[in-house]
Amino acid sequence: MSAPSTLLHLQCSQCGQQISAASIQNLCPCGKPLYARYDLKRAAATLNPQSLLMRAKSLWRYAEVLPGCQPVTLGEGFTPVLPAERLGASMGLKSLYVKDEALNPTGSFKARGMAVAVSQARHLGAKVLAAPTAGNAGGALAAYAAAAGLKSVIVMPADTPQANQMECRAFGATVVALPGLISDCGRYVAERKAREGWYDVSTLKEPYRVEGKKTMGYELWEQFGRKLPDVILYPTGGGVGLIGMCKAFDEMQEMGWIGAARPRMVAVQASGCAPIVRAWEQHRATAEPIQNAATTASGLRVPSPLGDFLILRMLRETRGTALAVSDAEMLAAGRELAAAEGIYAAPEGAATVAAIRKLAAAGWVQPDESIVLFNTGTGYKYAEAWQQALQD
Ligand SMILES: *Cc1c(COP(=O)(O)O)cnc(C)c1O
Ligand SMILES: [Zn+2]
Repeated sequence: MSAPSTLLHLQCSQCGQQISAASIQNLCPCGKPLYARYDLKRAAATLNPQSLLMRAKSLWRYAEVLPGCQPVTLGEGFTPVLPAERLGASMGLKSLYVKDEALNPTGSFKARGMAVAVSQARHLGAKVLAAPTAGNAGGALAAYAAAAGLKSVIVMPADTPQANQMECRAFGATVVALPGLISDCGRYVAERKAREGWYDVSTLKEPYRVEGKKTMGYELWEQFGRKLPDVILYPTGGGVGLIGMCKAFDEMQEMGWIGAARPRMVAVQASGCAPIVRAWEQHRATAEPIQNAATTASGLRVPSPLGDFLILRMLRETRGTALAVSDAEMLAAGRELAAAEGIYAAPEGAATVAAIRKLAAAGWVQPDESIVLFNTGTGYKYAEAWQQALQD
């Protein structure tokens, strides 16, 4: 685990400008997200199947392609890929799997991004970390800030699930609950951060949450016997998971691990907030903000994702697709997943079950293809949603 990071610099995902990785950064001056870039030739020399055998089963095993900071760790990453045979058989699919991100600290894959972002922010001298959140990102930020000995300020819509609000308070964060959506919370942070001395760790507004989340792509390759599955379904809010995995695949190709073929990436959204699906159906390169966004899947309530152009480009380049499911469909699918496979998913994760059923019925996936559904979070934090859905 003492392998060195090969981080070189940051580079704009849109205009290509290079920016130093030696100090804290937010967006490129052009307003778009920055990517961390590595010396992948040097990384490939020590990051390989043999060396990986010896490493800790956490996301920090990919140290060469992560920033070189002292990890703040609570045991994030290397979540199981569970075969979903009964569920698959019910829709004629022979190789259906669930990557269960609920097993991460704080119960969601947000732990991956925050583990890396908080570690690097502390390394670069940040003292107070602030973020707007639709739910799970706040819990993860508050937990990792506590573990790092830093302060955090979490701004969330007042109707965020109770569990998310309570965990942030328990972790000692300053919690601001606002009427409105995550976009209003984002504005609140943006307006105050300079005056208050906060480091803004909003989705895609700092470079390292993507780095934490990309490790899902590296893990899949290891867990599928050094190959990638044919199709990946991902519940898409800000799209960081999707963007991160596609970045990982590009890095893996440059290191000679895989060829040019990619899993077909599927963005699953809630019909009450589906900016990416709407843009995809209209063959647009960017998304229009959704007015009056509403869904019980709080992680999908992102009306105007900053990385829209990246998500849409990746769906095109991987010959993927985007589709929406209703709240009723995702809650019914969540019950089905729980009863068939013993996995109690967040509504966001359950949405992928409803989506794969539609894609299978439409013939968009073939019976023999290997398909991974991402359960991005635990069902245990969504008492309000499940209470309604489980009444009958
Ligand atoms: C945040 C979140 C999502 C959306 O993730 P992105 O990578 O931002 O698209 C999905 N599911 C859950 C449970 C979340 O907390
Ligand atoms: Zn730029």
